[in-house]
Amino acid sequence: MQQLTIGVLGHVDHGKTALVKALTGTDTDRLEEEKRRGLSIVLGFAYLEHDQGSIDFIDAPGHEDFIRTMISGATGIDAVLLVIAADDGIKPQTREHFAIAQLLGIKQGLIVVNKSDLVDSSALAVIREEITEAMRGTFLEQAPIHVVSAKTGDGIEALTQDLISTILSKPHKASADTFYLPLDRVFTIDGIGTVGTGTLRNGVIRCEDEVQVMPSAATATVREIQVHNQKVTQASPGQRVAVNLRGIKREQLQRGNVLIRPDSIQETTCLHARLQVLDDLPRLPKRNELVRLLFGTAEILAKMRVLDSTEIEQGAEVLVQFRCREAIVVSTGEYYIARTSSPAMTFGGGEILDTSEQLLQLPKDALLGHLQKLEHADAETKIDGLSKQALLRLAEFHAANPTAVGQDLDLFRTACLEFASAENVAYLIRQLGDSGKIDIIDNAVRLSTFNRDDSVDPTDRVAIAAVEQAFRDGGTVTPSLDEVLDDDPARKRAFQTLKEAGKLVAIKDHSGSKFLVFHQDTIDAIRKRLAAAYPPPSHFTVSEFRVLTGSTRKYVIPMLEYLDRNRITIRQGNNRSLSRIEIRN
Ligand code: GDP
Ligand code: MG
Repeated sequence: MQQLTIGVLGHVDHGKTALVKALTGTDTDRLEEEKRRGLSIVLGFAYLEHDQGSIDFIDAPGHEDFIRTMISGATGIDAVLLVIAADDGIKPQTREHFAIAQLLGIKQGLIVVNKSDLVDSSALAVIREEITEAMRGTFLEQAPIHVVSAKTGDGIEALTQDLISTILSKPHKASADTFYLPLDRVFTIDGIGTVGTGTLRNGVIRCEDEVQVMPSAATATVREIQVHNQKVTQASPGQRVAVNLRGIKREQLQRGNVLIRPDSIQETTCLHARLQVLDDLPRLPKRNELVRLLFGTAEILAKMRVLDSTEIEQGAEVLVQFRCREAIVVSTGEYYIARTSSPAMTFGGGEILDTSEQLLQLPKDALLGHLQKLEHADAETKIDGLSKQALLRLAEFHAANPTAVGQDLDLFRTACLEFASAENVAYLIRQLGDSGKIDIIDNAVRLSTFNRDDSVDPTDRVAIAAVEQAFRDGGTVTPSLDEVLDDDPARKRAFQTLKEAGKLVAIKDHSGSKFLVFHQDTIDAIRKRLAAAYPPPSHFTVSEFRVLTGSTRKYVIPMLEYLDRNRITIRQGNNRSLSRIEIRN
């Protein structure tokens, strides 16, 4: 199940809360009230559940709350919904909210023109133009614009559909081992005890995990975790969670504290970061002015020093050092917002690059060099790390299959999906191809340095062809392995080669002592036939499967079990359905 968190942005009274209610049926203004009275542990956010995944909406009540709520959920926010009232147009808070979303590194979103019931079509045309103009050059430049009325329900269905496709397109994120949960609310419930809520940023948190409360370093144990009011055994990054803690008193916890895996993050008073300065500011912070930093659920005062230029300018992007007034716990890669204290004004924000106090020992040139490397590292280093793994897989393939031209591209993609998201795999393969590290010939991929072993015995080559042919021809009524191999050493080697190349699939039979062997083409054909006859979510029984594949009962059960194991099919009692998730293109 995919999970998506959406921040709802826009000027006051443009209908953000009404829109969330129209989409989810939940009134977030009421939730706020319930929260204040401590009546409910309902999380502060509304959500939409769909059989393909769920969406949490972050809708903040007031403008100041917005800034805090956005930051406290920021890393978890996958996309924004920018709400603009048709009868009012783009207003200062529309711009400020949007600027904050940009500073927080959010890259995806939808635009909603609400209150369509109040205007006519010519007014709508004007507002569309205004939006197109304002979004030029931003991450919402290509975003769809939905015209809706939260009041009459017009356009809500189409918007819902679009949101659901956004869930499906969300790339899987790799998750760190250490969790990081900034608390945005802490309270007690009679008979249950101390509860904290927040958006889980990094890592997975599980029941019975030991946690450390920072900055006090007190420890506690997770007794229970709830997501969407349901008990769960673990939660993953981006999810809104409520954790019930054992072994800690209410007074030892407060909003702004962070729960971490014990000793996984060091406290610091020094941050080095990238700062994006906003445009059109009434004033800029002075040299050495105390500024307010907001990240996670914390807010602290810090002295700011610009490192790579003498002054900061409107719209500039600079490297900065923050010396914080108190020790804080924050992980590298977190986003922050920087504000002046009086008047409270957001002037910029960005990503924290390094939290080590040891950087203070470095001479300025070395420090700048280090930070610039980190700044440009992110995407590239990640891809470089993945490249290494991909090349290693391919080298292993060649070692096992010296006679093969290369690995089947689809199989290579599937192998890469074990360590990278689908989006990264596509990028990775393109990148490796462009840089000449791999060659893609027809549907096969090989290392460009690989020399096919032509010295292979011609007998072996004949055996490989014969064994492959036998199983391909067999289809679902596959010949027995012993029969095909015929105790011939060349054929035995050939079988091994074909299996490693992913051409043949060996499945234990019902007795568990012998193998049933199918050609990969047969498996692919079955999947196609199933998709045509029983598109998900429709179900099929074992005998329907047998009829469809023209196989016998002896083969059908092991084959279905194989499909279940590989998540090609999903079993529910005596029925199965084809998985919706197509791993291979
Ligand atoms: P928020 O401050 O952005 O959360 O705005 P609200 O959701 O509280 O809505 C502000 C006002 O606009 C309320 O009185 C709503 O009833 C009204 N409103 C919201 N959506 C619509 C709409 O689509 N059409 C009309 N006519 N009024 C709306
Ligand atoms: Mg509201």
